Amino acid sequence: MHCPFCAHIDTRVIDSRLLGEGDQIRRRRECMSCKARFTTYETAELSLPRVIKSDGRRETFNDDKLRGGFLKALEKRPVSMERVEGAINDVKRRVRESGEREIESVRIGELVMDALRGLDQVAYVRFASVYRSFEDVRAFLEEIERLENELPPDLRDQQLDLLPGEKAEKGGKAS
Ligand SMILES: [Zn+2]
Repeated sequence: MHCPFCAHIDTRVIDSRLLGEGDQIRRRRECMSCKARFTTYETAELSLPRVIKSDGRRETFNDDKLRGGFLKALEKRPVSMERVEGAINDVKRRVRESGEREIESVRIGELVMDALRGLDQVAYVRFASVYRSFEDVRAFLEEIERLENELPPDLRDQQLDLLPGEKAEKGGKAS
């Protein structure tokens, strides 16, 4: 790295030491030019990035919002909270792994869509229909058709009533 004193482009490490429980490393460096010594600390970047909204505003990453998105899409679906939490953690891990300080909200939406696809197809379509504004009705129907074709036949009947709204009001389950 550059010398903070004279801006020379090269410094050498003269000592490295792990700190605490090994989650931080301290390095003593010496400038190759002016010989000034200084210390740097290195830690893993694990904090969640700031979220860039579509209008350019920045927001703190909001766990509750993420969870809310999942739960809304999964309303009344047969998916355990344990699996939902697992999916939420998975999204957060992928966001952290990006190592970026800022991430576009659209990108988070895509990760959520991916996760929902693996959890429940109905929830996935619900979320996708709101989130990814399909170009037109046909593109949306094609996506549903594609999903239906991926399902094993015995599951098709159950999952075909997947559009939220109208169908649910048709009396629900006959008990
Ligand atoms: Zn220097």
